[in-house]
Amino acid sequence: MKSLSLLLLLCVVHTYAFPAVPAAEGRDENEQLAEDYLKKFYNLKTDGKPVGRRKSSPFSARIEEMQTFFGLEVTGKLDSNTLEVMQQARCGVSDVAEFSHFGGRPAWSTTSLTYRILNYTPDMAQSDVDTAIRRAFKVWSDVTPLTFTRIFDDTADIQISFGAGVHGDFYPFDGPHGTLAHAFAPGNTIGGDAHFDEDETWTSGSAGYNLFLVAAHEFGHSLGLSHSSDRSALMYPTYSYTDPDQFRLPQDDVNGIQALYGSSPNLPLTTTPSTTRTTTKTTARTKTTTTKQSTTLSNCDANLVFDAITTLRGEIIFFKDSLFWRKISKNSKVINHTITTFWPTLPSGIQAAYENQEKDQVFFFKGHKYWALQGFDILPNYPKNIYQLGFPKNVTHIDAAVHLQDTEKTYFYVGDQYWSFDEARQLMDKGSPRRIEDDFPGVGKKVHAVFQDNGHLYFFSGHKQFQFNITSKKVSRTLKSTSWFGC
Ligand SMILES: [Zn+2]
Ligand SMILES: [Zn+2]
Repeated sequence: MKSLSLLLLLCVVHTYAFPAVPAAEGRDENEQLAEDYLKKFYNLKTDGKPVGRRKSSPFSARIEEMQTFFGLEVTGKLDSNTLEVMQQARCGVSDVAEFSHFGGRPAWSTTSLTYRILNYTPDMAQSDVDTAIRRAFKVWSDVTPLTFTRIFDDTADIQISFGAGVHGDFYPFDGPHGTLAHAFAPGNTIGGDAHFDEDETWTSGSAGYNLFLVAAHEFGHSLGLSHSSDRSALMYPTYSYTDPDQFRLPQDDVNGIQALYGSSPNLPLTTTPSTTRTTTKTTARTKTTTTKQSTTLSNCDANLVFDAITTLRGEIIFFKDSLFWRKISKNSKVINHTITTFWPTLPSGIQAAYENQEKDQVFFFKGHKYWALQGFDILPNYPKNIYQLGFPKNVTHIDAAVHLQDTEKTYFYVGDQYWSFDEARQLMDKGSPRRIEDDFPGVGKKVHAVFQDNGHLYFFSGHKQFQFNITSKKVSRTLKSTSWFGC
């Protein structure tokens, strides 16, 4: 995540490094405003040249993009409705997902976050600023497992400051109105930080700009959300006043944040009878469709048999039917989601998955199809066919897969055999398939899921788990399948 946010910063420097274009002949103030707006929020690049206004020019393409986002009539022209939206006070974060969101889905790997208020606006009493900030965090902690603790020294995850104009990052503020604030997606150093334009008049009421409302929006970015085109959403990019006492987090934002962190552990949980939690792949498939409902599944069911498990950029992802669980770090609790929340085009019942760390890619398998992902994004030109990897036609699906970084081999487990694939040569190794019990003694006749962690392979067979030492080629421990869930 960290390197990605740095990459973004570099892109932005690049964008803003071009000298300002002097207003060309025949170009009025509105066109200059539109160009600045599209550069800032829609990643328009002009390479220092005056922008063309012809249809199909980058300028008109970005206008169309902006009109689509705001639900305006898509004309590709700078008409009066479009100009009106461009003049509204708004958040300084871009509306273009790949620009504002680093690609993938940045999220904090811990649920206990800290914040620090570095300075105060003279517009409000300090205690009113403190209250607005505290309430803005509560908007998000009410619907997720997240907690926010204020600290007064050291560097917090989310550093909050007020500044005018150039204020120490690559996004100078613009004086009164226009851009009100901006925040950075989760990450180290500047990641998560929220900046408020001191040239605005901040208030706790309806005059000027209400700090609570703007802060609640910015903290959405600090937690990994990008802008929503849902007009009712808190994460809509433009400012509109609502009475803070009447404020309720709109459903679009609830869905967004719970897709990243799961729902609040304080929400009432209902228990489902164990008979509905069967271990077969068909019955549970239709059962859970939303993140909230999925909390009704018991993570500690002794009969839980995983479909597939893989690492993903330091997390461990466990698949079962239409669900998956994320274990973000060693000490964190697991969070469950439906597969379609993250990947609407993926089927349920993923059968095998592995991560190739060098390529920063993860592969998901079902039947003879497989998909490649970078971070949480499915790569174009997938799904592909497993026969392209060199499997014979009598292999109809893969039970489990794991990649070993040291040898650049990927092992595919099919029935009581496994295939060794050489990632460097992109070829199946000679001698494949071999019997599982000859090379991985003790891990069971059939492997349902496998992943690598810290010099061990973890094989899952039925509801049993075997820790297999790669060096000594022996099972070193037998565990419950749910041991990673703290059961
Ligand atoms: Zn924003
Ligand atoms: Zn800033």
